[in-house]
Amino acid sequence: MLIHLSEISQAEGKNEKKSVAYEPDAVVISGETFPIKSKEEAVFNLSCPEKGKVHVEGSFSLEATAPCDRCLTEVTVPVSVDFIEEIDVEETGAELDADELLYKEILMRWPMKILCKEECKGICMKCGSNLNEGECGCDTFVPDPRMAAILDVFNNSK
Ligand SMILES: [Zn+2]
Ligand SMILES: [Zn+2]
Repeated sequence: MLIHLSEISQAEGKNEKKSVAYEPDAVVISGETFPIKSKEEAVFNLSCPEKGKVHVEGSFSLEATAPCDRCLTEVTVPVSVDFIEEIDVEETGAELDADELLYKEILMRWPMKILCKEECKGICMKCGSNLNEGECGCDTFVPDPRMAAILDVFNNSK
């Protein structure tokens, strides 16, 4: 959604508050799509410190869903952003793309790691069971490579 700044940018000393709905229904990050489960209206406080300039301050929060990095269980990812921007209307034009501004802020706050819980055990490399739900009983012992070489010699000499 576009916020028109032409009026406020000429009204020195004036304040204006706008509630804006964030339009996308998913967060797309490097080709991956994370659906947005809920979102609040973004609040934009606009003011004009001097003619031609607009000071923008606001906040926004949403909840998206994304798979746990280790076990792929769906996790709710809350993201809240606060932003401050100074806009020179002569340089950038008198329209502010709210969705674009919010998307950039969401990207900055998106967690590096998404885990269903800090101590998530992940999934078994052999059978794919979710190890948080109990041991699957697979033999996941990975021998030390030096040890494996000794075992090979031992097995070959039999
Ligand atoms: Zn997990
Ligand atoms: Zn297993």
